[in-house]
Amino acid sequence: MLEKLEEFNMDKVIEEFEALSTDAERVQRETLRRILEDNASAEYLLNFGLNGRTDPESFKACVPIATHKDLEPFIYRILDGDDSTILTGKPITTMSLSSGTTQGKPKYIPWNDELFESTMQIYRTSFAYRNREFPISKNGKALNFIYGSKQFKTKGGLIATTATTNVFRNPSYKPTMKALQSQCCSPEEVIFGGDFSQSLYCHLLCGLIFREEVQLVSSTFAHSIVLSFRTFEQIWEELCNDIREGVLSSRITVPSIRTAMSKLLKPNPELANVIHKKCIGLSNWYGLIPVLFPNAKYIYGIMTGSMEPYLEKLRHYAGVLPLLTADYGASEGWIASNVNPKIPPELATYAVLPQIGYFEFIPLKQLENEDTFLGVDVQPVGLTEVNIGEEYEIVMTTFTGLYRYRLGDVVKVMGFHNATPELKFIRRSSLLLNINIDKNTEKDLQLAVEAAAKNLVEEKLEVVEFTSHVDLSKDPGNYVIFWEINGEASEEVLSECCNCLDKSFIDAGYTSSRKVNAIGALELRVVRRGTFQKILDHYLGLGTAVSQYKTPRCVGPTHNIVLQILSENVVKSYISTAFD
Ligand code: AMP
Repeated sequence: MLEKLEEFNMDKVIEEFEALSTDAERVQRETLRRILEDNASAEYLLNFGLNGRTDPESFKACVPIATHKDLEPFIYRILDGDDSTILTGKPITTMSLSSGTTQGKPKYIPWNDELFESTMQIYRTSFAYRNREFPISKNGKALNFIYGSKQFKTKGGLIATTATTNVFRNPSYKPTMKALQSQCCSPEEVIFGGDFSQSLYCHLLCGLIFREEVQLVSSTFAHSIVLSFRTFEQIWEELCNDIREGVLSSRITVPSIRTAMSKLLKPNPELANVIHKKCIGLSNWYGLIPVLFPNAKYIYGIMTGSMEPYLEKLRHYAGVLPLLTADYGASEGWIASNVNPKIPPELATYAVLPQIGYFEFIPLKQLENEDTFLGVDVQPVGLTEVNIGEEYEIVMTTFTGLYRYRLGDVVKVMGFHNATPELKFIRRSSLLLNINIDKNTEKDLQLAVEAAAKNLVEEKLEVVEFTSHVDLSKDPGNYVIFWEINGEASEEVLSECCNCLDKSFIDAGYTSSRKVNAIGALELRVVRRGTFQKILDHYLGLGTAVSQYKTPRCVGPTHNIVLQILSENVVKSYISTAFD
């Protein structure tokens, strides 16, 4: 594998994907055949009477569509140490924990070598297309804000950690990243330091030490990049001091991080002065990233879906540098690559890799009345049968023992790359805000927040983070929006923001219910600075990795602790008068 990686050949990778995507239908059949052949002895498949058949028709006739909940009894047996062939032919020995921010608690998902291999395939594919448009030079370094989370053993002795950590810990990860000219400039001790804020501090410090060599700034999700540079604004002078003196700040207490950093940090007053001068020359930190890293070519990470609210701030830090959204996947498995990296994240699509899983698509129209799902009416279509312009929920069959698994994501088909669809990520399928006939998704919430936040611009303030809650404890129930703002806004402006939020949910179900008071007035609750950091810390405590973190955008009954953190930190609240 190593030799193969060192021989990484951009043209060959592109050629291969062009061929696979042209032949997507055959490749899908072949992928399903391989999955079902490898796992023919899996109890799950035998229970449904598949009996070793590997064609799509028999597979669809025998095996039902499933959710994570349906698989939990099988997954718990594996976690408890049952090493029979439950979901896969080869026993599962490692589990991933999904971020769990949508549901409120992390989910266990099987992990194996095939999933690592498909991760590397997707990295190689998107790198090839990216590097064709935005070439980076050999031996370049990446300032990559990644964090390994703790590994632990389940009752049955399986290793469990987040999917990203399973990737970072694999022995082939580093050589692959090196071959893809994306080697992280921080030592492993920083990535696996175990203390998020200390690791973040040292990632920044390493970036500054290697500032001339850094060619890209990245992270799994864009949220983490924004958080890093918001932190930089607070601690930049301390970082400069460390570089000037060659002595690491006493805030770093993890011995392994201190030892690793002491090998890199040497007194360098000249570098400290350059950075200091550049920082004080900036206006409101605009263009910070290219100023700090003069050879950076682009910023890279997942920037679509729940990451879109961070784009404005990211662009502010990025100045002239392009933002390139990364790939599309989940702890359950990868789906698609960004093969058109020049397209801005708001318009980005992802081309499905037909060789990494077997994909089906439930037309969203069929799910409008979810009850029909319990019957036989749902008819997913195959990868090459989707229609441009239509929205679908993704169903995936993977090499890790997930069969016809509803991932819970809604995508829209925007076109085709050869014969494989190009998907736009739309949203998680679970409805966010719903009291009666209203239906507001994560995207609707984002748009309402953006519209209302315009009122803060004059005061030079911004919404740092937000979430929502449906309060049904009173009658009628109402929407509650929580905001963390980076300063003090006047009462008048905040009341206006509250009214504007209420008016910005424009779906007919909401506005008509508001007019007749079937939904109560919207409430805007402003929380103390640092509240969303506490929520992040809460998730880190549950085992979520910062690298995979997504702020929960709707806090429901399964998020009791998050709701408690929010409620305890409310400093001001406003009730809309928009429909009075
Ligand atoms: P996790 O549960 O931590 O494995 O996160 C997986 C989820 O993150 C997916 O199901 C999507 O909802 C979201 N996600 C992953 N990649 C993207 C992407 N490129 N654009 C938008 N959302 C994404």
